[in-house]
Amino acid sequence: MKTMKKLAVLNPATEETITELADAGPQDVDRAVARAKKAFDSRCWSGKTPAERAAIIHKWAGLIESNLASLAELESRNTGKPLKLARDGDIPFAVDNLRFFAAAARLPESAGTAEYSAGYTSFIQREPVGVTALVTPWNYPLMMAAWKLGPALAAGNTCVIKPSELTPLTTLELAKLAAEAGIPEGVLNVVTGAEETGRALTSHPDVRMISFTGDTETGRKIMGQAAPTVKRLTFELGGKAPFVVFADADLAAAVQGAVVASFVNCGQDCTAATRIYVEKNAFQKFSDDFVKEATKLRVGTDMGPLISAEQRDRVEGFLKRAKGVKIILGGKRPPAFKKGFFFEPTIVSGATQSSELVQSEVFGPVVCLLPFKDEAQALALANDVRYGLAGSVWTKDVQRALRMARGLRFGTVWVNDHLPLASEMPHGGFKESGFGKDLSKYALEEYTVAKHVMLETTGAARKPWHYTAFGDPG
Ligand code: NAD
Repeated sequence: MKTMKKLAVLNPATEETITELADAGPQDVDRAVARAKKAFDSRCWSGKTPAERAAIIHKWAGLIESNLASLAELESRNTGKPLKLARDGDIPFAVDNLRFFAAAARLPESAGTAEYSAGYTSFIQREPVGVTALVTPWNYPLMMAAWKLGPALAAGNTCVIKPSELTPLTTLELAKLAAEAGIPEGVLNVVTGAEETGRALTSHPDVRMISFTGDTETGRKIMGQAAPTVKRLTFELGGKAPFVVFADADLAAAVQGAVVASFVNCGQDCTAATRIYVEKNAFQKFSDDFVKEATKLRVGTDMGPLISAEQRDRVEGFLKRAKGVKIILGGKRPPAFKKGFFFEPTIVSGATQSSELVQSEVFGPVVCLLPFKDEAQALALANDVRYGLAGSVWTKDVQRALRMARGLRFGTVWVNDHLPLASEMPHGGFKESGFGKDLSKYALEEYTVAKHVMLETTGAARKPWHYTAFGDPG
């Protein structure tokens, strides 16, 4: 039965409807999961050699690259982000991610074959998990899809991906290109819809694994939905990244870094700098220079809108509720824009460490500036949030950089930069930012299960007490 419910997809820079798509209900989700299960059971994908899967994923990456211009335009239209960001950043990185996973699929297993018990040979076989449910957010739609589809497919799983209801368009294009590259029917399925669709998918009994990127609160719900059928989970959740500047740092570089890290993608980045801690004796200069540089950002050109009216209201809500703070830049909708969910780059000082603005994820172009007196205090303040995704330290002192890198409880720590990632390196959180990793060989591991195969090699009959931890007592 076909669902009649529709989902309007907007351009957040103009508020115009780009298109309407199906809002998938539970029966649509059932159908997609059944297709993925049938494809998994048939071994049409996992039965291919890693080299065969890799060749198809490479071809897919090539098709994405040759369609870069149109994909970037679509991503920019659906998210509002500057075309340049999608064209020169997100999408080329997604292509590189897919190429990495295609190559990584062919690396031989390391753990091994040996006689761990007398008269037995053991080996480990890593197998795909099965049908995977991939649920993605709206901030980097195509890239988030690649981060999940890449390792899931490289490992031989089949997938049902649900992009955010706000930004499904490039994921649909990715799926078309995957079919063109030769990914077999039923291996990659897309369902479009919002929370109800996500709930049906992540509670479906035939889904064996959920890979989710989104809000920590949604992650909590998904854990509950996954519990009855004990699914494997990997979660990339919220963040509240510290950006710690010591007085000995290259302050000009730190200021430039702070502008990019705070306002790229309109601050809608889980690793965005949200709490800038500056050593007391450099605080005023950093603050003045940061405001001066951030003032140069052109809203509408360098910085797009927020994703939705709801998200803009949410960001405004944080500022309205903040007590005793000083908004030293921005803090409002830019008056020049009659349409679009734009918001000015906003810098706040005077927030207390325990305040909502410092503790909770705003997910918008709002950053707090806070002073610290010494290294111990900087570390304590930086770690004092429930999140643990990413953070940075700015200093010329190598020993201090290493001490801070060791002490910061975050999945990624940058020294003298903030934001860059690499396909070869894991990305994932500590604490309430989640568990499991995107990118790198660690992501590939998430999408496989280790099976121990143990071969009896003597052919001798065994006595009942033989089945103890260390074999036959004689
Ligand atoms: P969200 O949690 O609202 O939605 C994410 C996805 O989950 C969407 O596809 C949504 O439809 C779906 N969903 C909502 N409720 C669901 C439910 N009950 N069951 C199943 N699916 C459900 O997040 P968002 O607002 O789209 O994205 C912003 C959040 O994503 C921020 O918190 C941000 O920090 C986080 N994020 C994290 C990373 C990371 O790598 N850690 C990367 C990007 C974004």
